[in-house]
Amino acid sequence: MKAAVYYGPRDVRVETVPRPSAGPGEVVLRVRRCSVCGTDKRIFTHGQKNVVPPTITGHEIAGTVDEAGSGVDAQIAAGRNVIVATVVGCGKCIYCQRKQYNLCDSFTALGYDYAGGFAEYVKIPAAAVAQGNIIPIPPAMALERAALVEPLSCCLNGQEYLNAQPGDRALVFGAGPIGLMHAAILKARGCSLVMVTDVSDERLAYVREFGLGRTVNTAGGNAVEMILKAAGGEKFDVALTANSVKSTQADALKLVRKKARVCFFAGIPKDDPVLPIDTNFIHYNEISVFGCFASNLQHYHQALEMIGRDDIPWDRFVTHRFKLDDMVKAFAVIEAGQGIKTVIDCE
Ligand SMILES: [Zn+2]
Ligand SMILES: [Zn+2]
Repeated sequence: MKAAVYYGPRDVRVETVPRPSAGPGEVVLRVRRCSVCGTDKRIFTHGQKNVVPPTITGHEIAGTVDEAGSGVDAQIAAGRNVIVATVVGCGKCIYCQRKQYNLCDSFTALGYDYAGGFAEYVKIPAAAVAQGNIIPIPPAMALERAALVEPLSCCLNGQEYLNAQPGDRALVFGAGPIGLMHAAILKARGCSLVMVTDVSDERLAYVREFGLGRTVNTAGGNAVEMILKAAGGEKFDVALTANSVKSTQADALKLVRKKARVCFFAGIPKDDPVLPIDTNFIHYNEISVFGCFASNLQHYHQALEMIGRDDIPWDRFVTHRFKLDDMVKAFAVIEAGQGIKTVIDCE
């Protein structure tokens, strides 16, 4: 089969490799679409310790069951279109006992520890199949749209903590694919204002074009003042950081009202993660600050339902499409910060 093989940072080669086959409990999927995540780009640029070359990355997978090994649930039969949850729990730790697989102390993940979706076929390990990671999708759902379920599931994990209510004023830092998905969710939940900030006019233009909310470019200015001015001087009920800039975490806390929820959705560089916080501000104003990491199975099911609806222009989120042969070109587009979502057509 054809696959984009990762040999190390900036060394991805499209090659012919052996096609996997399904042993007991395993499933082989014909990958149809695999969308490119920010972490795929980071692995391409810098590498990652649990991604040991040569291997295949890619975890935002939508495909068709090609072969199901013995003992696999009859629902996961050949010909069925499915998506796949990324994280595989160890099955033993306290978090796995609670079915919080994304928080497992020693989780493994598809497209990291196991070969992923930038290939014609991908093998889903037995532990993932048994955990329920293969999720059938409606036959009529476009595979390209289905490839957006994984990133949306991560957003829904963060939104669970944020708990936005109709009429809330919402602030999103970062107009990348994740920031836009959050804006779409907040709009769908009936927020009276969704404000998205970024330092790129090109990215912010997508927010307006998709009708997701208002925008403010904070490049070169006092972000807090600029955002407050753009928001008519009123602060926000929910705020979320969907970028890796530490100062926006501090800004988020300066821009929220009493009883606000603040989600630090994205991680920041690990050499400088400490932020001084006025804990009295949190105490007297009943502010809640949350983190979230990846997603769990229920978030995939929620995301699948949301992706199937047409009240959000999901198809427009995909701004770039490449064949598997052009994998390196796809990474170049993402590194240049162009567009929203880039999807690889593995057919
Ligand atoms: Zn992803
Ligand atoms: Zn575990």
